[in-house]
Amino acid sequence: MTHSSLPKNHLSIVGAGLSGSLLSLFLLKRGFPVDLYERRPDMRKIEISAGRSINLALSVRGIHALEQVGICEEIMQSAIPMKGRMIHALDGKLTFQPYGKNEQEVIYSISRGGLNKSLMTLAEKKGAKIHFNRKCTGINFQSRHLHLYEEETHLESLVETNLVIGTDGSASAIRLEMQKKRRFNYSQVYLEHGYKELCIPPGPNNEFLLEKNALHIWPRGTYMLIALPNSDASFTCTLFFPMEGEFSFETLDSEESVLHFFQKQFPDALPLMPTLIKDFFENLTGTLMTVKCSPWSVDNLSVLLGDAAHAIVPFFGQGMNCSFEDCFWFDECIARYGTEDWEKIFKEFEKLRKINTDAIADLAVENFIEMRDRVGDPHFLFKKKVGLLLEAKYPVSFIPKYSLVSFHRVPYAVALKMGQIQEGILDEICSGIHRIEEINWEKVKKLIQERLNFSPLEMTV
Ligand code: FAD
Repeated sequence: MTHSSLPKNHLSIVGAGLSGSLLSLFLLKRGFPVDLYERRPDMRKIEISAGRSINLALSVRGIHALEQVGICEEIMQSAIPMKGRMIHALDGKLTFQPYGKNEQEVIYSISRGGLNKSLMTLAEKKGAKIHFNRKCTGINFQSRHLHLYEEETHLESLVETNLVIGTDGSASAIRLEMQKKRRFNYSQVYLEHGYKELCIPPGPNNEFLLEKNALHIWPRGTYMLIALPNSDASFTCTLFFPMEGEFSFETLDSEESVLHFFQKQFPDALPLMPTLIKDFFENLTGTLMTVKCSPWSVDNLSVLLGDAAHAIVPFFGQGMNCSFEDCFWFDECIARYGTEDWEKIFKEFEKLRKINTDAIADLAVENFIEMRDRVGDPHFLFKKKVGLLLEAKYPVSFIPKYSLVSFHRVPYAVALKMGQIQEGILDEICSGIHRIEEINWEKVKKLIQERLNFSPLEMTV
């Protein structure tokens, strides 16, 4: 056993991204000294891309975690409410599908960079030390040292540590070290689709060129374009598209092919995208994957949190929200179990979260299929309508899966289970009918009594 010169409960956090910075605020609130090691330079001083996706959808789980550390009000000042999906059909027809049952049930578009900067500034104000340009290249679990590398100076260093939290994202260096240990479970599944960020700038009078308070979707079967509003009246668009194959990033390899493709598939968006060609060829094509692993911790030394523990595809807008919820529950475990036994905290944290992070990973893949090719399908839309009617009639028990995930904090595993039960009920009710008037309400009552005679909001896993 090595003797540590660090104060008791000193924590090293690897990665000052969204979850690392927020987690440091929770830990500082408990009075623990925190050092963060971040690979990138300080984005508040140097203009860097804040990583993938310029804006993000923030919903109730993320908001709740931000509230706990007193930063929510500041963040929400620049947040733009998105009340539902605006579907852009090929013929230009627009259909608005509200996300929730009222004006309160909305999600918010926020700037990823703005949020990260605010979290870092607050963390520093509360006493965190953020060491920028420090890439973690490994960890020695025996001697309890982090290996760091400065890309600019090529300097390598070793840092002593008591406790290490790996919040270094989907390609986590800490997780990579854990993978070298015996009996570590790991899976990484790439989606066949990648993504490309594009832009719709503000109009000539700095106005929004599309409906401001909506998440816009151009669903086209095997692929889709989406757009989220920014506070400068621009929209960040993301094309989710196959990486390979006949229609893919591989084949869209010339200006003509890109223009032709957009003219054919997104004719109403194209005139709003003057920098399309530049953006398309200059912006990197991102890949999308689901990472599941276990155990998340090593002894009483190290634990993973956020994307490092569970990267998910972005189609439920929950990766950050889920990671922020991790921060809340990690803090809750400290409150429940004290700090004499960090191994217990790590284990209990994983027990609480893993079943739920696995569930949201699966829900996110399901939602990809829904967004890209079902939101334009008449039977799917009919079922959605019936779902809303059932919600109005049975508000306590029939809360749609989307609402459970985005507007409530019930465990994700409950939302997954409820989604399956609801889908079964809707399939039976809607089978062979096309109009609301044809619904057999006696059958509805019986099915609800049999399968949903409780409130999902009271369920735990
Ligand atoms: P990251 O944000 O990836 O942060 C990791 C940090 O660690 C970074 O600062 C990185 O520089 C640093 N780092 C990495 N390696 C090292 C190292 N070796 N040493 C030191 N530092 C290191 N989520 C939502 O909730 N809503 C959305 O709408 C949404 N949209 C998305 C759209 C896209 C296209 C993508 C790809 C993701 C989206 N997400 C969304 C998911 C969200 O971005 C992630 O879940 C979230 O960023 C996870 O936060 P994190 O802090 O765990 O990881």
